[in-house]
Amino acid sequence: MSSTEPSMNSFEQMQEGRPTGPLVQGYEVIIGFETHAQLSTTSKIFSRASTAFGAEPNTQACAVDLALPGTLPVMNKGAVERAIKLGLALGSHIAPRSVFARKNYFYPDLPKGYQISQYEIPVVQGGTVSFLLGDEKKTVRLVRAHLEEDAGKSLHEDFVGQSGIDLNRAGTPLLEIVTEPDMRSTTEAVAYARELHKIVTWIGICDGNMQEGSFRCDANVSVRKPGSSLGTRREIKNLNSFKFMQQAIDYEIRWQIEELEDGRRIQQATVLFDPATGETRSMRTKEDAADYRYFPDPDLPPLAISAEWIEQVRQGMPELPRSMAERFVRDHGLSDYDAAQITQSFAFATYFQDSVAAGAPPKLASNWITGEIARRLNLQDLPIDRAPVAATQLASLIARIADGTISNAAARQVFDALWTGEGADVDRLIEAKGLKQMSDSGALEAIVDDVLSRNQKNIDEYRAGKDKAFNALVGQVMKASQGKANPGQVNALLKARLG
Ligand code: ADP
Ligand code: MG
Repeated sequence: MSSTEPSMNSFEQMQEGRPTGPLVQGYEVIIGFETHAQLSTTSKIFSRASTAFGAEPNTQACAVDLALPGTLPVMNKGAVERAIKLGLALGSHIAPRSVFARKNYFYPDLPKGYQISQYEIPVVQGGTVSFLLGDEKKTVRLVRAHLEEDAGKSLHEDFVGQSGIDLNRAGTPLLEIVTEPDMRSTTEAVAYARELHKIVTWIGICDGNMQEGSFRCDANVSVRKPGSSLGTRREIKNLNSFKFMQQAIDYEIRWQIEELEDGRRIQQATVLFDPATGETRSMRTKEDAADYRYFPDPDLPPLAISAEWIEQVRQGMPELPRSMAERFVRDHGLSDYDAAQITQSFAFATYFQDSVAAGAPPKLASNWITGEIARRLNLQDLPIDRAPVAATQLASLIARIADGTISNAAARQVFDALWTGEGADVDRLIEAKGLKQMSDSGALEAIVDDVLSRNQKNIDEYRAGKDKAFNALVGQVMKASQGKANPGQVNALLKARLG
């Protein structure tokens, strides 16, 4: 590069050749994410103190977490194993040797004056997160994921004119997962975050509890006119719900465009989203890496990960959602959309697999799970592992539809009774509610003849080519049978009679 050419930073170069995203008032939106996933180990990253959430303040930080003189940190193997799992799940390079560094800064919740993190050589490098946005497959590239310790927490509520400090969280293991600025809209950013959340919970490295702060996203947002170089970003910190994420990024985009349109410049800053006002506001102007005086932590040797260790971790990995979804499409004939729905979480996929194992035809099971069950779970805000209808009960219900014992309409009644706890046994409920379909074809023929004798008008209209008239006849027969006739049988009988 000659000295007259404008210099480009690495993010800039990485964006070359990427397609332009949808424009907002003539601006292209650029988003990159940094996510802190709290690793689900029972003890801290460098000590044996507990990581359990919700303990009395300051009862769970030990001398190592506070770096008191004379203590030494010792790497928690479980945290490394979880980092390896993420790397394997996302197709990243897992560094055989990575280095811990001290990130120096002062804040009341970090009395030791530095955070142990990884800087120049992180444990996980590269990789991608892919997901469907509508019909389109999107791929977001990761820069890295590094291990680090969490800081304590400042408590502002419960105190007047003062702040409390709770150091319980100090030393909790985190994996910070950093993307390239590859996202081009709020929708795409939220979809990325949802996919990442799905993966970390699926492989069991993080409990994903966003209210408790186990999965916190920082969204870096900038806007630019298409074709120009990357705009200055502002970083929205600690988004802890998908709803706030959506609101915060939308607001931030509008705010930045307005600033630029009014002739002002965007200043690089760290901002917070206030759910009460729906606005983002500046917390501090942004430090540069140089301000942190990173240097390798002299207390910790480089982290060595052998090929054997990686292989051993690989053996213990569950099948990943994408490969499972592909398998459901291939082996069970599900649509891409349904397969994605079914693999939305490990618990959903387990429910589906359990119902199939109990004999339910996969397609029918998938229809029920993505339809009626998902709808009710949403309404009651329940996770599927707390669904009142077990996978085996669903399978029994489906079996009774498939063998013609009950109609779909009757099945919905039985399902409702199972869900509300009115009964637990499918066959007994069918019996008690008198929902058995008519199996006696003689009785059904009598009803059909009766309906035909009373509805000459519909017959004439049907013969004149009106399909609606035929449906009306089917409806009449179903009604006369009190819903117990088999609709397929009714159709066939009517067709035969009407010639
Ligand atoms: P820091 O560690 O100081 O927060 P990095 O340079 O590592 O900053 O970048 C952090 C995040 O910001 C990354 O996710 C990256 O994709 C994103 N990012 C970088 N430049 C931009 C930009 N111009 N617009 C939006 N996001 C950006
Ligand atoms: Mg950052």
